[in-house]
Amino acid sequence: MAEWDLIIVGAGAVGAAAARRAGEAGARTLVLEFAVPGHDKGSSHGPGRIFRHAYFEHPDYVPLLRHATARIEQLEDEEGVELLHRCGVLLMGDERSEVVTRSIDAASRWNVEIETLDGWSLSRRFPWFDLSPWRSVRGVFERNAGLVRPEKVIAATLASATRRGVVIRLATRVLSVTERGTTVTVTTDGGAFTARQVVVAAGAWTSKLVPELERHLRVTRQVQAWVAPNAGAHAVSLLPCWLLDRGPDVPAIYGLAPDPLGTGTVAEFPKVAFHGSDILVDPDVGADPVGDEDIHALLGVYRAKAPTLAGKVVSASTCLYTMSPDGNFLVGRTPHHKRIHVAAGLSGHGFKLAPTLGDALAESALFGKTGHPVDFLSPDRFVAVG
Ligand SMILES: Cc1cc2nc3c(=O)[nH]c(=O)nc-3n(C[C@H](O)[C@H](O)[C@H](O)COP(=O)(O)OP(=O)(O)OC[C@H]3O[C@@H](n4cnc5c(N)ncnc54)[C@H](O)[C@@H]3O)c2cc1C
Repeated sequence: MAEWDLIIVGAGAVGAAAARRAGEAGARTLVLEFAVPGHDKGSSHGPGRIFRHAYFEHPDYVPLLRHATARIEQLEDEEGVELLHRCGVLLMGDERSEVVTRSIDAASRWNVEIETLDGWSLSRRFPWFDLSPWRSVRGVFERNAGLVRPEKVIAATLASATRRGVVIRLATRVLSVTERGTTVTVTTDGGAFTARQVVVAAGAWTSKLVPELERHLRVTRQVQAWVAPNAGAHAVSLLPCWLLDRGPDVPAIYGLAPDPLGTGTVAEFPKVAFHGSDILVDPDVGADPVGDEDIHALLGVYRAKAPTLAGKVVSASTCLYTMSPDGNFLVGRTPHHKRIHVAAGLSGHGFKLAPTLGDALAESALFGKTGHPVDFLSPDRFVAVG
């Protein structure tokens, strides 16, 4: 008989969420993590991530997003922590912008409350941006959206799981995950464990454990900077999170609002970053540190589009995206496995959805099914049977 009902590889955003759900279900659950949760070599560190619901990436995420936000609110109550800051999210682009058009479509299909804005109203309400010629600019503002605090979410999620009996073993590197009949053997640098089911939530490292995913996942280096606004900037306490679609051939630029709870940390400054990059990284080697060229490229665009915000760089760091071929996640079992469930290729937009992914994976593993509509994210769309 297997020692554990469920082993979860990785205590990042998704692994922690799966652990919480498994703990709620009363399953004998072991989480294996090679570092410490929230470490800065993966994809979930730093003070902020954007959450929103009028989703341009694919409309079928909307029910998953609503559930994820509700789970974070529930966690806030349970653990007595403030995890969400509803400063609103503003998406901008020109008249051809797919980001804007698809967000409006998703909002209308799922009844998500948004405001659509023309260039004139955008320039009046959001004076930080200089997007002339304004006549060709459009925007979508979602008020019930904003910033989520990733490191606090992971800590609170793991605390909730631990209180329900989930065992978390840190400093333990999983070397392989192998199905054998009705159990799965998880071999680590600290011995082997067996479980009825395994969830691999290893972020950028996933294809090292699930090699059939390797050619479908690209790990990229992302640079993010926290920048002090210039003295004359309009009140940054009113700044929303934002994203500017610059067209299909260049990455969007986006920013995070300052966090009112971030006083004395980088989070008290607005963050800016490009959404996507072509620089590939082996996560075991790590991304090159931020250099002058990175800052020059980012600040060049920032100065042009949000001149009063683009003052002095206070801090900058790298982080990893794991890109799938279509920018949508791979969630579920691959056709090669019956007992190994994955969440991979979160493509730079997975944090806000992690609570739902964790719930769906834990439920599929423990009960053989989930009510969350994640079929459109099945790895089958890339990985051939056999
Ligand atoms: C700069 C940046 C900005 C982003 N902005 C947003 C945003 O605004 N909104 C949003 O929704 N998303 C955003 N994302 C994406 C989001 O943060 C990620 O999709 C999400 O955090 C990934 O979570 P994960 O659990 O898959 O990976 P991680 O949180 O990295 O967790 C994987 C864990 O597995 C562990 N692990 C790996 N291999 C092993 C092994 N062999 N043995 C043991 N442990 C192992 C790792 O140590 C790690 O802790 C952003 C990402 C970056 C980098």
